[in-house]
Amino acid sequence: MDKVSPETRSKMMSSVRSTLTASEIGVRKIVRSLGRYFSEDNSLPGKPDLVFRRSMKVIFVHGCFWHSHQDCQKSARPKSNAKFWNKKLDDNIRRDRTVQITLQEMGWDYLIVWECELRKAPDLVRQRIGDFLTASIAMFPSRQRPYS
Ligand SMILES: [Zn+2]
Repeated sequence: MDKVSPETRSKMMSSVRSTLTASEIGVRKIVRSLGRYFSEDNSLPGKPDLVFRRSMKVIFVHGCFWHSHQDCQKSARPKSNAKFWNKKLDDNIRRDRTVQITLQEMGWDYLIVWECELRKAPDLVRQRIGDFLTASIAMFPSRQRPYS
């Protein structure tokens, strides 16, 4: 993790968005194999990786390091430049929370797929995605819109 400077890493990350990560490709494959269609819709908060408009559901594919996956080896924080990294990663955590709350308030459900899960247990991830996409409103209380 410490081999590149923070500046270089930041630059690397900002350029990443235009190309899909292996995890994003993996999740897209799973969704397609389930016979589900998704769109990319950059207008939603947090720019979810996969958007299911009609059912108002989104999937985020999260990198364990960048989104501080809890209790995950991959989310260990760099020891050098600790101050820089702590701030950056804490900001990400805060932003993720805000995005999740905003989406729920808008009536959207979200599912987070972690990079490490996808690598270690793709079948389990497939199951979770399938359940999430077929689940009804009752299973996801956030779908109940208070304003309608
Ligand atoms: Zn992880």
